[in-house]
Amino acid sequence: MREHIVAFDQGTTSSRTLLINRKGQVIDVAQRPIEQHYPRPGWVEHDPQEILATQLSTFTDVLVRNGLSPHDVDSIGITNQRETTVVWNRHTGEAVFNAIVWQCRRTAPIIDELCADPEVRERITATTGLVPDAYFSASKIKWILDNVPGAREQAEAGDLLFGTIDCWLVWCLTNGAVHATDVTNASRTMLFDIHTCTWDPWLLELFGVPVSMLPDVLPSSGLFGTTAHPSIAGNIPICGVAGDQQAALFGQCCFNPGEAKNTYGTGCFLLMNTGNKAVRSKNGLVTTITASAPSTKGVEYALEGSVFMAGALIQWLVEELGIIESAKEVEALATSVEDTAGVYVVPAFTGLGAPYWDADARGAIYGLTRGAGRAHIARACLDALAYQMNDLIDGMVDDSGIPMTKLSVDGGASRNGYLMQFQAGLSQLEILRPKNTETTAMGAAYLAGLATGFWPSIDEIRAMREVDARFVGTMGAAEREAYLKGWRDCIRRTRTA
Ligand code: ADP
Repeated sequence: MREHIVAFDQGTTSSRTLLINRKGQVIDVAQRPIEQHYPRPGWVEHDPQEILATQLSTFTDVLVRNGLSPHDVDSIGITNQRETTVVWNRHTGEAVFNAIVWQCRRTAPIIDELCADPEVRERITATTGLVPDAYFSASKIKWILDNVPGAREQAEAGDLLFGTIDCWLVWCLTNGAVHATDVTNASRTMLFDIHTCTWDPWLLELFGVPVSMLPDVLPSSGLFGTTAHPSIAGNIPICGVAGDQQAALFGQCCFNPGEAKNTYGTGCFLLMNTGNKAVRSKNGLVTTITASAPSTKGVEYALEGSVFMAGALIQWLVEELGIIESAKEVEALATSVEDTAGVYVVPAFTGLGAPYWDADARGAIYGLTRGAGRAHIARACLDALAYQMNDLIDGMVDDSGIPMTKLSVDGGASRNGYLMQFQAGLSQLEILRPKNTETTAMGAAYLAGLATGFWPSIDEIRAMREVDARFVGTMGAAEREAYLKGWRDCIRRTRTA
């Protein structure tokens, strides 16, 4: 009876359902891809019905495969691609338009127009913790209301609802009984005041969003509702909800200020818990609400920074330079030489991000000599991942005044031992790589299981966690300084202004 937690991990490219036991082990995973719609260059959409259908069918798959019924499930935790926007009719349950995906750039002109005034930008950042951008939901809602015939009138009449993917799923799973999201997802809409935890009337006015469309905002761990959808019997409580990055921070057990996680995927996402303090960044990082255990008083915050070219840089070695056949070969090639022979790669393929913010900069390879070869370049690419992360870490520590005490890692490139060791040396941090790399789904599961008492406390959760590898820096101070000086010189030469 009720010996399992189910995590729904609704991502950008697939919907997954994970079955988790009391020991915090993943027993089974079912996954279905979701179709990407690109109606125009730079535009990205998903079908909300397909998102629901794949989530439901993967749920059924894991239950059937494991001979379980919904009555064996203690609770459901949901984690989701963030910022992606759905608008639907509260009476029919039909979405008025496809989901506009976080990556979609169609609303960049809306942001350019509404946020041109520096005072407006400042007020948005002060209220929401975000740097105004088309990523966040606000401009996507506006686009739907302005472009779908009749949508604005219906919204003003109170007939339409907005939600991020978690909210859409909760509404569908509860058969329309609950219209709610959690604080982490709300904090990515660019309509939410992260200090007072309320929808901000000035922002609603700016983006023309009627307040009647907006969901209730709940803590990430606690009862959202119980399932009532015809294909999920059993009245399963939905008790955990968090956006993917915040779920991963929680899943990595970064419960205390100064604890951070980095996901080394195609891009990198670094989040550091800053506790009850909403830190305003001077380095262009965003301030976001993070998921907390039910025992926590008040909301907790994190600083978040990202790097676009991480695993993607290794993919570039495979696909464009052709010097390796697959990403996993990069470690052997990079460690076939003693050092980079002075080669540095600055992967500013789409400009330099935090803390430099130079959109016009472009990538470069420096320090080539006659003896430099493919192994040196491969090694310099791995080093570049670590340098970029180190810059973000320095920015976070500088902004918050909180020393980073621990870095937990996940994502494809975290399997690279050379990279992890170099990162530990450069950043003078202990790096922990957990055995269970499903950190995002585990975060959602922990949030649900803590709310129901399936797991009694975060101490219990910490104790279940098994470490796969621990990396401690052995780099000397002079060596480290020399590496960093080289990197900074290359950044200086790459910048356009
Ligand atoms: P995402 O979820 O963002 O698609 P993953 O976490 O699956 O990414 O990681 C895939 C990325 O990790 C790819 O870009 C790949 O180049 C990189 N990668 C995979 N294995 C390694 C490795 N051993 N060393 C360095 N990079 C790797």
